[in-house]
Amino acid sequence: MKNTSGLKPLTVLSLHRISTDKDFFWTPIHPHRFEQLVKQLVQKYQLVNFHQLPDIKTSTRPLLILSFDDGYYDFMEYALPVLRKYKVTANHNLVIDCLTSNKVIWTQRLGFIFNHFLDKNLNPELSLKGKVLETKSFKNLMQLYFFIYKQLLLCNHQTRDEFLVDLESRFDVPGKARMMDWNDAAECLKNGVEIGSHSYTHDVLSVIQGEVELNKEFLDSRRILSERLSTEIDAFAFPNGQFKENHLPLMEKAGYKYALLVNDKINERQDYQSDSLLLINRINMINENVFLMGMRANLVQQKVKKLFNYNA
Ligand SMILES: [Zn+2]
Repeated sequence: MKNTSGLKPLTVLSLHRISTDKDFFWTPIHPHRFEQLVKQLVQKYQLVNFHQLPDIKTSTRPLLILSFDDGYYDFMEYALPVLRKYKVTANHNLVIDCLTSNKVIWTQRLGFIFNHFLDKNLNPELSLKGKVLETKSFKNLMQLYFFIYKQLLLCNHQTRDEFLVDLESRFDVPGKARMMDWNDAAECLKNGVEIGSHSYTHDVLSVIQGEVELNKEFLDSRRILSERLSTEIDAFAFPNGQFKENHLPLMEKAGYKYALLVNDKINERQDYQSDSLLLINRINMINENVFLMGMRANLVQQKVKKLFNYNA
């Protein structure tokens, strides 16, 4: 058994967009707040990445990883300069289709559609898989957005895409998102950011049936990232946090060491050093003031809810 007595728990924060853009349904973290967060974290934690974990034998401070998903270009504009300023590393999990062809992830497209509905005060009739949805029965657009989001998680790629394309064209939805390309990914690496995989297509993996398609998401994405960027790819972050148990052997075979979840838990010290694939807990960060972000990283809100048996 490994001696892990010198090691501290590992906190992994899950981050997406760092931007000044307005998005009512999925608000990016403001760059100023991100900088305040990093400034606060470096005083309390030792910031590391997944590559470094096996070599860390002892630590006086708890370990923390800033773990980004998706590869929005605003990472280059707002996050990377802060990481450089405070000389800290991070992990960023990228999608092959986004790097190669600036494909916008479906969750962001859904966000553009609903922000457009909000701006224009629209409450249109929507139908999914030939069924008309009772949109008028929802209290507000936010409730409807989450209902549709959950429905789309259950659809296959084609049904989901048809639904989005139909609304985008019918309502002339504006919206553009710039994703990082291969040069940006190389620039991240050069600045000490570890690259991981966030799949090939960012499809919902729990609805993919075929092993060939799943291997494309797990195996091909890792191979292409590692060949094009000349780096070891250790981490895989599940798109939309959706996975099935039978994905784990495929991931292990593909060569991953860390499977990243978003479940608002920390990793106890003996949990993150192993020779086989490890499931890693991550805490989802949202745009709130730095005091609340600090409490979120410490799971304070969860502890309070538990104490008062309160469910928001
Ligand atoms: Zn994602």
